[in-house]
Amino acid sequence: MNSIIVTCASCGKKNKISADKQHLRPKCGHCGAPISLREMAVPVELDDYSFSDFVKQVSLPVMVDFFSPTCGPCQMMAPVVQALAPKYINKIIVAKLDTSRNPQTASFFNIRGVPSFLFFKNGRLVEQIAGAVPEAVLEQKISSLV
Ligand SMILES: [Zn+2]
Repeated sequence: MNSIIVTCASCGKKNKISADKQHLRPKCGHCGAPISLREMAVPVELDDYSFSDFVKQVSLPVMVDFFSPTCGPCQMMAPVVQALAPKYINKIIVAKLDTSRNPQTASFFNIRGVPSFLFFKNGRLVEQIAGAVPEAVLEQKISSLV
């Protein structure tokens, strides 16, 4: 699981926060002050092992970017997906899954091309977008889920 290092605004100490816990309103491990992630938030990097439990356990809707590192349109979408993570923190969870390393999940959801964007609510797949799309299209879908 990927993680981020955030400096506590209250005591100045560094905290390592696992990406899958960003939405849980983390507190500083040193002084207990709430940590504001602001623009630091990153997409949660899911894999074949973590995918299903994560999507089922979280209470927020989840958008997952199914991508492959060698795909041009995926690389084009990466900064867009990255930007959505801080923008919608605590509203939805932005996640990504590398289909080249996690074929099981990609095959389970019948992903035929990347990028594909899958939207989950209460653990169920509710929406799906195939191919690279403008940020506005993703945001429209997100707005319909929150
Ligand atoms: Zn602190």
